[in-house]
Amino acid sequence: MSELHKFLFEGLPVRGMLVRLTDSWQEILRRRQQAGGYPAAVTELLGEMTAAATLMQANIKFNGALILQVQGDGPVKLAVAEVQPDLALRATATVTGEVAADAPLSHMVNVNNQGRCAITLDPKDRLPGQQPYQGVVPLFGDRREKLEKLSEVIEHYMLQSEQLDTRLVLAANDQAAAGLLIQRLPLQGESNLAGAGAMARDEDQIGRNEDYNRIAILAASLKREELLTLDADTILHRLFWEEDVRRFEPQTGADGPRFACTCSRERVSGMLKSLGREEVESIIAEQGQVEVGCDFCGAQYHFDPVDAAQVFLQAASQPPIAGGTH
Ligand SMILES: [Zn+2]
Repeated sequence: MSELHKFLFEGLPVRGMLVRLTDSWQEILRRRQQAGGYPAAVTELLGEMTAAATLMQANIKFNGALILQVQGDGPVKLAVAEVQPDLALRATATVTGEVAADAPLSHMVNVNNQGRCAITLDPKDRLPGQQPYQGVVPLFGDRREKLEKLSEVIEHYMLQSEQLDTRLVLAANDQAAAGLLIQRLPLQGESNLAGAGAMARDEDQIGRNEDYNRIAILAASLKREELLTLDADTILHRLFWEEDVRRFEPQTGADGPRFACTCSRERVSGMLKSLGREEVESIIAEQGQVEVGCDFCGAQYHFDPVDAAQVFLQAASQPPIAGGTH
């Protein structure tokens, strides 16, 4: 069963989360089987992304989807993991070339250092014209050296965009996708250190940073195999047995991370509408129907000529958009 565990370190400004995706991750892979499945290295990357996106979504208070994307300049053109506020999740990758089973991150998505990682927050009740928030980080470090761990890329993002020290350990195979996140909580007033209280706060922060550093080092000692195979209790005890850890009720089952796709016939209709009548009619003239497959869940949506006409019948009854119709 997939599960998310939240915990904090008593009296210290440090919190943590552990996610283990098993059935939900296997379901994502199973739905890809009819399209040939993923090479092992892509399974690993996409699994790590899905675990990371779940941790990031659970870490924010935001009513909308969190979408973690890697846009690559190698054989993996695009990898996407999307997690809803209720932890419903889905993921897919577009692979256009050969990927060796042990290909490192750079060979898959960052051959010429042009790969990018984007994190999008898409509000649930987005107003027309309102853009979702997006942050983008490159797949290289401060000296333009290629990063080979997705966890490092996301740690950079967290530091840059949220000003939060974060340690992330990720691992995935064809059975499980898992992640451990340790984060230093922002201190009150930290972003405004000017004035008389600044020195006291500085001292305070330095002391507490030591706590964060110690816990982050413990977290980083977690081995990939341990993260993939051990249960949450064992992992947390093994790493933090000397710390005072307060655990929260695990989120699992209907309240936990689980696979679900948000695609629907209405959404596909909307997409056809935005393609335009001419384009859709030319597809029908060529193929007799329009067929749209969902990359996330494998669902197929068919529109015969009558269905397609109805899509635009509805559109035509709405006021024309400037630049308009003939
Ligand atoms: Zn779908």
